[in-house]
Amino acid sequence: LADRLHHSVRGGLRATLIDPLTGLYNRRYALPQLGKMVETSAATQQPLVVMLADIDHFKTINDSHGHAVGDEVLKTIGRRLNRLMRPCDLLARIGGEEFLIAMPNVSTDTARSSACRICTAIGMTPFDLPELAQPVPVTVSIGLSIYDTQTSKPQTSAELLLEQADQALYGAKADGRNQVTLSRPAA
Ligand code: GH3
Ligand code: MG
Ligand code: MG
Repeated sequence: LADRLHHSVRGGLRATLIDPLTGLYNRRYALPQLGKMVETSAATQQPLVVMLADIDHFKTINDSHGHAVGDEVLKTIGRRLNRLMRPCDLLARIGGEEFLIAMPNVSTDTARSSACRICTAIGMTPFDLPELAQPVPVTVSIGLSIYDTQTSKPQTSAELLLEQADQALYGAKADGRNQVTLSRPAA
């Protein structure tokens, strides 16, 4: 009984932190974790990069190919993103078709090129799913914000970084999607 209890407690815990579709961390895990990463950056004086990646025209993919194909696209994106992460990076599905990536200790240039690599990893190769007659092209847009301990306000929070990344994402969408936009640091 103790064994079974242990198992179901662990299973229950997992269910509260992991998105069942993609196997990635969920929003509930990711937001407090991002807060901890901001604290660590401040304490160690190392920069932290926050990215929000949102699938472009995902509604159209669902509408044209069905919700099940949409789900497979989400899973494939999760796998492609996961391959590009370092062990210290945070990757989570924080909304229906929105992913959070946080990368500690990278320069602005590296952050930008990492984000471009992510865009390319999704957009370059159309998704070849068994349910489809032909592969379907999928792209993502990425908004990026940077916590730089030299230049950012000391009270910079995870919430602020997310808000800035979201603003940048909005810019990437407005500028035509399938691209990376950097948040302009507040004056
Ligand atoms: P944009 O390029 O502006 O981001 O357009 P969009 O169509 O991606 O954005 P919109 O917010 O209009 O639509 C998001 C869609 O994502 C609508 C919703 O049905 C779909 N979606 C959210 N969660 C899931 C899911 O778990 N599975 C599937 N298949 N679709 C989902
Ligand atoms: Mg969205
Ligand atoms: Mg979208």
